[in-house]
Amino acid sequence: MRIVVKVGTSTLTYSTGNLNIRHMEELCKVLSDVKNAGYEVILVSSGAVGMGMGKLALKSRPQELALKQAAAAVGQCELMYTYDKLFSEYNYTVAQILLTAEDINDSVRSENFIGTVHKLLELGVMPIINENDSVATSELVIGDNDTLASIVAKSLGAKLLILLSDIDGLYTADPRRDPNAKLISRVEKITPQIEALASENGSKMGTGGMVTKLRAASIATAAGCDMVIANGKNPAVLYDILDGKPVGTIFLGENK
Ligand code: GLU
Repeated sequence: MRIVVKVGTSTLTYSTGNLNIRHMEELCKVLSDVKNAGYEVILVSSGAVGMGMGKLALKSRPQELALKQAAAAVGQCELMYTYDKLFSEYNYTVAQILLTAEDINDSVRSENFIGTVHKLLELGVMPIINENDSVATSELVIGDNDTLASIVAKSLGAKLLILLSDIDGLYTADPRRDPNAKLISRVEKITPQIEALASENGSKMGTGGMVTKLRAASIATAAGCDMVIANGKNPAVLYDILDGKPVGTIFLGENK
């Protein structure tokens, strides 16, 4: 079974921009184990800008485009260096693929991307995908890695997309502000009522937020791919998700 796992900046780094070593080590260990069990795994990883901030000692997330792109260029190196080091402990080789919207929209480039990932999977390599933040400008930008991960899952015919975030799943209200907020464990159809939940609290949810996660769910489920939102603070939840246990929120893929 082919799965796409997306991990957000909040899981990989502290708010300082420094690496969250515990989360990253645990993530690489679990993903290696999942690969050992026979799954084909594609990782979509954020964190380039966040880690660049840490390395360049920037106090806040850069607003200026050139500085943000420079931070991404620095941080992407740090990110891949860390993945390479950690995955090699479990005998896995990593490969970096950086995409822009243009690569997705152009049929030749998109076919090349799909062909490359297939070959990497055949070679037993762990493909790690991010947006090419250092060259993407407003016209070319995919904008967030939730959407990017859903496009990747769709293009590669994945059966399951897992978004590891700093929130447990989709709630009936913002759980950080409303103690009565309830986790919605299963979404069979993305109705206007479900969409309204995200538009209320999207901007408060950190990187990406619930709006982009619901957009990702629409793209993935329309392609027949299930999508799960789960908390990345304990990457071992991946085992429970793959065992079909109820974790976070699952959006069921439409039957094709
Ligand atoms: N591509 C961005 C980065 O690596 C993250 C985008 C997102 O968090 O959705 O920093």
